[in-house]
Amino acid sequence: MQIAVLLGAPGSGKGTQAKRLTDVGFKHYSTGDMLRAAIKAGTQLGEKARAFMDKGELVPDPIMIDLIADTFSKLPTDSRILLDGFPRTVPQAEALDANPTTQVGLALNFDLPESLLVERLTGRRTCQECGATYHIKFIPPKVSGVCDRCGSKALMQRSDDTEEVVRRRLSVFNKQNAGLLDYYRKKSVLVTVRADQPPAAIQTELLKKLESWSK
Ligand code: AMP
Repeated sequence: MQIAVLLGAPGSGKGTQAKRLTDVGFKHYSTGDMLRAAIKAGTQLGEKARAFMDKGELVPDPIMIDLIADTFSKLPTDSRILLDGFPRTVPQAEALDANPTTQVGLALNFDLPESLLVERLTGRRTCQECGATYHIKFIPPKVSGVCDRCGSKALMQRSDDTEEVVRRRLSVFNKQNAGLLDYYRKKSVLVTVRADQPPAAIQTELLKKLESWSK
């Protein structure tokens, strides 16, 4: 497998960008999306994860490592993957590299000043029908409250995008991030993406980096 991980704070735009890259042959896996789907489906995993997510805390490593191992074990070995939201801790990064088929070849670090993150997260809206993401100020839908992609009116704020939970999520991120960056820097696979550019410019920069890596 070819695996690129997307690192960066919640709100740095990595999920939005990754969703757009599925047209060029990458599969996008977001552990946050997987957990939200599990909560919606009422599974045991969802039940366990919900309490942590509601508080803005991380779901424990063993649960997350099993979830990713299980997901990847069902994929063809020639899959090209953009992994979004995992790893969040050094033990999660080590678990990926411990399996020869899931070793990480590229770590893209979405770098954005912290001052911009709270506004980005609290303004974020997701279509409950098709998963498209918007921002009330920066990426609004063409018609207010209506999804451009599927026409649904179910554009909702995530329950963990309220200001109080966002601040907790950012503090959890800051605690873990330096260790993760260090881990991938030492492996010489860390590349920085300037995430304070307009979305189209970020997309161009990402595509270039992915193309030169996956050739
Ligand atoms: P996200 O959609 O990536 O912002 O993730 C939403 C929430 O899901 C996080 O605040 C965590 O509670 C949980 N989560 C997602 N991915 C992970 C992970 N790799 N490790 C631990 N918790 C995670």
